[in-house]
Amino acid sequence: MTPLERELTAIIRQDGPLTIERYMALCLGHPEHGYYMSRDPFGRGGDFTTAPEVSQIFGELIGIWCISTWQMMGTPGEVRLVEIGPGRGTLMADLLRASKVMPGFAESITVHLVETSPTLKAAQARTLERSGIDIAWHGHLDEIPPGPVLIVANEFLDALPVRQLQLTETGWHERMVGLASDGESLQIGLSADPLPAALVPDWAAGADVGAIAELCPARDAYCRAIAERLATAPGAGLFIDYGHSISGTGDTVQAVRKHRSVDILHQPGNSDLTAHVDFQRAARMFTAAGLNVYGPITQSRFLAGMGLAERLDILTKRGDARRRMSLRSAAQRLVAGNQMGQLFKVLVATHPDVPEPAPFAQMAEAAK
Ligand code: SAH
Repeated sequence: MTPLERELTAIIRQDGPLTIERYMALCLGHPEHGYYMSRDPFGRGGDFTTAPEVSQIFGELIGIWCISTWQMMGTPGEVRLVEIGPGRGTLMADLLRASKVMPGFAESITVHLVETSPTLKAAQARTLERSGIDIAWHGHLDEIPPGPVLIVANEFLDALPVRQLQLTETGWHERMVGLASDGESLQIGLSADPLPAALVPDWAAGADVGAIAELCPARDAYCRAIAERLATAPGAGLFIDYGHSISGTGDTVQAVRKHRSVDILHQPGNSDLTAHVDFQRAARMFTAAGLNVYGPITQSRFLAGMGLAERLDILTKRGDARRRMSLRSAAQRLVAGNQMGQLFKVLVATHPDVPEPAPFAQMAEAAK
């Protein structure tokens, strides 16, 4: 039993079963035993690998996107470059290095990282030390001073806890984590009482018995905070994540440990838990706040549109054959349909005064 599992069973014994949302929130964010709080989970020796950890080109192309969007914003002399959930800081380091090519950009930005994990904050500080740029850390987007912003988030929105509702013959019930008959091991069950109909999203109407619908109040709140921010000052947000383009039913909560998919109740606090992002919902929230929304498009289309092939050509002009091969196979991993290319989607939201950003403007032009 993990220390968190001991704590969870004690809570359940005292207060009854936990919603999936509370379970996920504790597994990821428990101050002492939460998955992100005490470890660096990335890379080969860790549990999973994210796009910036796969290839430097990922962060570099996001750097190009930032420069190009900054130009679309009219090259403001003061812009806050914000990353939410920066992991090891690798994306930001690659972004900052690549954006040096643009005169004036580095002088115009201040860098703000939004992170809740003390361990990862320390990792980010180490990674970004070499950039020589001052970094400000925040616990929430709300803490960042007003003004023009560029917001970037890769695999952040999927780390926020979801509620799961399941349809039975007696209506929609909340999926809960309780205790099995041995009084010790965790087990998934359903709330005894059906949930009020008003809670069930319209896209879940007509679902079959057994269907699962996910709601993510924390993600909604974050999208609202981002929308408010982008509606009040010139700026843009770039969101990259696992997810679906159209809202729909399905159980998308997954646990990963040592690069393997495991049961979500397996070793609580020691495995990463994520849920797919409902991009349609996020897009609707941004649109409702008056923002322009582009996408979602696949990561593969986004990276191709931002010049992945050209960047790869430049990088593979230097170095030996082995380095060239490893650069190519890493880039391939980012865009391959059976790897990160299709499942990951990219959504962009901008202040209404900002013209259509890259690569959407170029894609629209090419389609004419
Ligand atoms: N973007 C990074 C890391 C993705 S993992 C990459 O692509 O490699 C998710 C990140 O979000 C971690 O840095 C985690 O600590 C952070 N995170 C999780 N919940 C958060 C919250 N509520 N607020 C801010 N950061 C959070």
